[in-house]
This record gives sequence, C-alpha cells and structure tokens, in this order.
Amino acid sequence: MPEVAPVPLAQLTTLRTGGVPTRLVEADTSAELVTVLREVWAEGAPWFVLGGGSNLFVGDEAFEGTVIRVRTTGIDELPGSRPETARLRVQAGHDWDALVAETVERGLAGIEAMSGIPGTVGAAPVQNVGAYGQEIVQTLVEVELIDESSGEVSIVPASELGLGFRTSVLKHHYGSVPERPAVILSVTLELERVGAGERPIAGAQLRGALGLDADDAVSLRWIRDHVLATRARKGMVLDAEDPDTWSAGSFFQNAIVSEAFARTLPEACPRWPMGPELDPVTVIPLAAFDGILPPPPVETREVKVSAAWLIENAGLSRGFRFPRSRAGLSTKHTLALTNRGEATAAEIAQLARFVQQRVQSEFGLLLQPEPVLIDVEL
Ligand SMILES: Cc1cc2nc3c(=O)[nH]c(=O)nc-3n(C[C@H](O)[C@H](O)[C@H](O)COP(=O)(O)OP(=O)(O)OC[C@H]3O[C@@H](n4cnc5c(N)ncnc54)[C@H](O)[C@@H]3O)c2cc1C
Repeated sequence: MPEVAPVPLAQLTTLRTGGVPTRLVEADTSAELVTVLREVWAEGAPWFVLGGGSNLFVGDEAFEGTVIRVRTTGIDELPGSRPETARLRVQAGHDWDALVAETVERGLAGIEAMSGIPGTVGAAPVQNVGAYGQEIVQTLVEVELIDESSGEVSIVPASELGLGFRTSVLKHHYGSVPERPAVILSVTLELERVGAGERPIAGAQLRGALGLDADDAVSLRWIRDHVLATRARKGMVLDAEDPDTWSAGSFFQNAIVSEAFARTLPEACPRWPMGPELDPVTVIPLAAFDGILPPPPVETREVKVSAAWLIENAGLSRGFRFPRSRAGLSTKHTLALTNRGEATAAEIAQLARFVQQRVQSEFGLLLQPEPVLIDVEL
C-alpha cells in the first residue's frame, strides 16, 4: 500500500481542522486506488477518501482508520454524441478548477460558471456541485466507480446517481450513511464546442450575477474571469492569505421547504422554485432538432429559501464570533463558517450550533450542514 507518514487532517482540509489519522495512503493511479480500496475494505476498519478536503468538517480526535488521498490526474477527449459536442473523461483526483480552465481554453462550454470551486473532479458529483445556475448534473454523462459492497468497478450513468440539490446517492449526509458507498475513479462530461467567440448566455441566474442582459454576448473566458472575480469578493476562492476563505464554502445548505411553509417566512426572504432553471422560451434550431422535445416545466410544491438571509435576519451579521473563539462567520458572507487561525473543530461546531439555534428560534427551521462531517457532531 502506498502509505505515507500521517499528518493532521487540519493540514489537508480547507476548514483546517482534524487530528492525525491512524493511516494515510496516497493513490497516484487508478489501478493503485482500486487495489488500496480493496485492501482497506477487506480489513473492515473505518475509511474515507480525501480529495481537496474542501467539503469536509473533521473532528479534533485522531481518526481511527485509513484516509485514502485520491491524487490521480488526466483528461482524455472522446467523441461527443453529436458533432457539436466533445466528451472529456477526467481522473478523479484532477483539480476541478484546472479542468474548468482547460475546458475554457479548448472552447468547450458547460462548466465555466463553476470556475473557482475548490476540490477534485471525483468529488464533484458527490454533492452535485453547482454555482450560478450551473450544476454538474447538466453535463455529467457517467462515472466509473468502485462499490464497497462488491469491490467491483463499473460504469454508472449519471441518471443512476440520484443527483439533486447538493446531493447524490454517494454523499455522506449528516446523520445518515450514503445510499451507495462507492468511490469515483473517473468522470465523463459532455460539453458544447462553442470556441472562443462571444454568444448570449442561457442562464438567467448567471446573467444576473454577472450583470448581463439576455442579448449581451460574452466569451467563455469572459465568464470565467468574471465568475472568479465575483467569487473572490465573497471569499469563495481559496486564498492562503485570507482567513475568510478558510472554510468549507457554504456551511449550511439553502433550505428546501414546502410552498406552504415558505409563505410563513417574511416576504423579503429570497426563494427560488425547485426544478431546472428554464428560460421562458426555448428555441430549438431546426438543424439541431432531433425529434425529441424537452420535457415541459414541472409544477413543484417545494421552494429553496436563502440560508444566508435567514442567518442574517436571525441577528447574526458577517464576522460574528464568540469572545475569544477562533471560529467566526466570514466577514464577506454569512454562510461561510471560517477558521480564523488554529480554531478547533469544537469551536467551529459551537458556532454552527449557535447559528442553527438562532435560525430555528426565529424562523422555525433547522439548517442542515452542507459539508461531510467526520467524527464531529452538531
Ligand atoms: C471556498 C470554497 C468555496 C466553495 N464553493 C462551492 C460552490 O460554489 N459550489 C459547490 O457545490 N461547492 C462549493 N464548495 C464545496 C467544495 O469545494 C465541493 O463540494 C468540492 O466538490 C469538494 O471537493 P473535494 O475534492 O475537496 O472533496 P473532499 O472535501 O475531499 O471530500 C468531500 C466528500 O466527498 C468524498 N469524496 C471525495 N473524493 C471522492 C471520490 N473520488 N469518490 C467518492 N467520494 C469522494 C469524501 O469522502 C467526502 O465525503 C466550496 C468550498 C470552499 C472551501
């Protein structure tokens, strides 16, 4: 097993918490990863795989088990399902933002709005990463994964991964185990060949975030640059010098509630209907029409409400922290719980519980954490 000397997980996670695990293993090739996982599973001890550590909240005690770092890299271009598309098969340990940069460079559209999200490609489907109306579900074709139950490697189509808002059958949600314990070895995306030219942007949410009108035309490079700048202003691009980015991104998910419950919240609380974001009119060019009409918008009775608004309006402002605590809300964005330097997991958990309690007593709903929690309780 490619074992290395264990280091504190605080050094390998962006929230900067976690003790020294019993064992740390690094897999640089897919074959190595498969071998290591089969060996670890045969032993039956606790384990988890680690990508960029940007969606993990790890407890202070030593993790009594094996941590497997996924460090496989590489992109293979395959033919797309149509001449205007290309498929990319990407190894799980590849840096997500490096992939986005590469697609922009190659003139391939589909993930450019997700520029600047930290972490690895293999972790992206686990919580169906997304930003500004783009989610990986929109371009994901399939993943190659290995199941813990059988130790077998298989190709699984995206439709079987239960991809939803920050969720999939692979995600270890707080308080439950994944429906399908498995490790992703590679990810295949299908992207549109649009080149370096300018064109109108389809998504209203992205246009809104970037201050564009429906008929404004911009290039992929322009979108990437402006998304990165917008995210940086909110502390949502990792920066070793800026403690506002020493976080797991949004610590709480936007809450999904019934329309009836949403009506009990103040009108000012931002809310969005669940379901795919569709522009009012979808025009399909005759040349691209393959005889299949997209499904009509689904009537939904659920809405997503802004966790950031709920936190701020429960009386917690940006930068909030307890006296002497080294954990605090980001000074740029209330959804990010940040480590202001050497904070323990206990300090961050104390802050998280306080946020939950304040929101629950003001608005009657319990915010759910977005990161995966390991050996730590809220
Ligand atoms: C500053 C900042 C901004 C962020 N912004 C966003 C955002 O805009 N949108 C968004 O969706 N997320 C965002 N995140 C969260 C995070 O970046 C993503 O969830 C990312 O996909 C996590 O990747 P990772 O490699 O760091 O995963 P890790 O944190 O290493 O792991 C997360 C979980 O996935 C599992 N996992 C990791 N690799 C694999 C694999 N190959 N197969 C199966 N399971 C695996 C781990 O065991 C763990 O349970 C942000 C985080 C930070 C710190």
